[in-house]
Amino acid sequence: MLKKFCLLLFLPLVISACTPRRAIVHHPLVKETHPPRIAQQPEFIIVDAGHGGKDSGTLSTRYDYEEKHLTLSTAHMISRYLNYLGYETEMTRYDDIYIPLSKRAEIANSHKADLFVSIHYNSSPSESADGVEVFYYNEEESLERALESKSLGTKVLSRLIRHTGANSRGVKTANFAVIRETKMPAVLVEAGFLTNAEERKKLQDPHYRRFIAWGIACGIDEYCCQNRSSP
Ligand SMILES: [Zn+2]
Repeated sequence: MLKKFCLLLFLPLVISACTPRRAIVHHPLVKETHPPRIAQQPEFIIVDAGHGGKDSGTLSTRYDYEEKHLTLSTAHMISRYLNYLGYETEMTRYDDIYIPLSKRAEIANSHKADLFVSIHYNSSPSESADGVEVFYYNEEESLERALESKSLGTKVLSRLIRHTGANSRGVKTANFAVIRETKMPAVLVEAGFLTNAEERKKLQDPHYRRFIAWGIACGIDEYCCQNRSSP
């Protein structure tokens, strides 16, 4: 009962577009349907809230934000949505604590996670810069992981844009430690610019962050659905 109440409390006013353990469901916002999936061992996903503790990420006292708090809030939402969709999750941090970058990758590798997603918010000297971008590591030693990461990133970005209406800055490669040192498909999401006045106002609203979280969860779900159905 308590669990059911918690689910109702945390879920947004949208229903899953692609979810296991239920019949075809309708998404009230995008009017799409998917066939039910065959129940199987759920994928295990690591959700990484960027920064934390002594590492605030981008911050402003004038506009009253620290990236580390926004990433943690969003990561909690993503984790709950993924659980709701039938996935197992672990977060690299659950509180405002500092965790070195290599330790974050180590957590994912030691858990033998299926996927890794790192959440960040962006900043720029140009206040006009806005939108969402997703990064993956294009390593030559493991081309397959790079291609899978790119595929995951493409789906996450697409769903994020669909659910938030934010500007798409594309899927890009980068040499960030958390996506380089992880051994499974991994992406780093920069989910908007805190230095852009209009976007900052949205990002500071928990309701908007729910749509970011839901978009990311749906993108992961779409990636996993496709992988299950491919031979
Ligand atoms: Zn960051």
